[in-house]
Amino acid sequence: MTTGVKQGFEAAGGPVVDYLRISITDRCNLRCIYCMPADGVSCLSHREIMTYEELELFTRAAVSSGIGRVRVTGGEPLVRKGAVEFVRMLTSIDPGLKVSLTTNGLLLARYAGDLKEAGLSRVNVSIDSLDPERYRAITRVGGLAGALAGLRAAIDAGLGPVKVNVVTLRGVNDDPGPFADLTRELPVHVRFIEYMPYFNEPGRWFIPGEEIKSRLEEVVRLEEGEAPEGWGPASTASCFTFPGAAGTIGFISPVSFHFCSSCNRLRISADGRMLTCLFDRNGVDVKREIRAGANAGRLREIIDEELERKAREGGNKPKSGTRMRAGDHMSRIGG
Ligand code: SAM
Ligand code: SF4
Repeated sequence: MTTGVKQGFEAAGGPVVDYLRISITDRCNLRCIYCMPADGVSCLSHREIMTYEELELFTRAAVSSGIGRVRVTGGEPLVRKGAVEFVRMLTSIDPGLKVSLTTNGLLLARYAGDLKEAGLSRVNVSIDSLDPERYRAITRVGGLAGALAGLRAAIDAGLGPVKVNVVTLRGVNDDPGPFADLTRELPVHVRFIEYMPYFNEPGRWFIPGEEIKSRLEEVVRLEEGEAPEGWGPASTASCFTFPGAAGTIGFISPVSFHFCSSCNRLRISADGRMLTCLFDRNGVDVKREIRAGANAGRLREIIDEELERKAREGGNKPKSGTRMRAGDHMSRIGG
């Protein structure tokens, strides 16, 4: 297959950056307690959100800079009208470009087939509890049955390896047993993700991945397995299986084990800022640049400059610690 995709951006002293996460909306049909504060977040106006054409232009520039993998996220990406067509716009940029999606799954049963047909490679589905009442308590408004229907639809549509993201919260959903049972039944890769306390007081729900793993080892005999394809920093890929399982289990521990020095990510927030780190306070306002007339060539210069800076700042350490800018939330940055 001919492909113009360059294999990653590499600057002296930094890791190869080849992965772009695009938050296409800050809106969501859920209100997860660890993602949004109880009093909600103010939504961006239509004008403040990047159009799909602007995002495509930016992605073209990023691909010429070395990005080979793009994840569409949000907020909830499937609540934005035209999300499937946007996936098609992205997969049309270059046959070598791989595009995936992170979703809460509630709208997946409706869109999984169309997404596959639009060229989507695979999906990650966030489901934090398999108990309907607990799921409702965590998401404040969601129904577990809809998320599970979405998960099954993704598997049936061939959007695998399907990963299930579980953000573990102490005292809320810190029993991993039901997810072990899920991997007995379905060929999914469950990932227990450490909660990053970015708006609640530090430590409130935090539980180390190692503790979840120990709890799991009380009920199943974990064996090291081969990690399914993943696009994040290589150091985050852990994979275990156990006798009788159809799927696998992994742990992502950004708090216990910083992976800044191998971070291969570039992000674009829903309001059009390019961020080289989740905790960038400002980023570069590429939406403004595009609306002022920047073409793909100029955007590539901006991207390259920022990635050079990311490498120069050494190990990509967050410039501003582990606090996002006031008013920023995962739903705006895309996780
Ligand atoms: N709505 C989609 C979903 O939930 O999958 C996509 C956006 S969501 C912001 C992307 C990922 O970020 C989800 O897996 C979510 O669980 C995770 N996330 C959100 N807040 C988090 C936090 N405080 N700590 C760790 N992960 C978080
Ligand atoms: Fe919405 Fe995803 Fe945040 Fe939950 S984690 S509120 S589904 S954006």
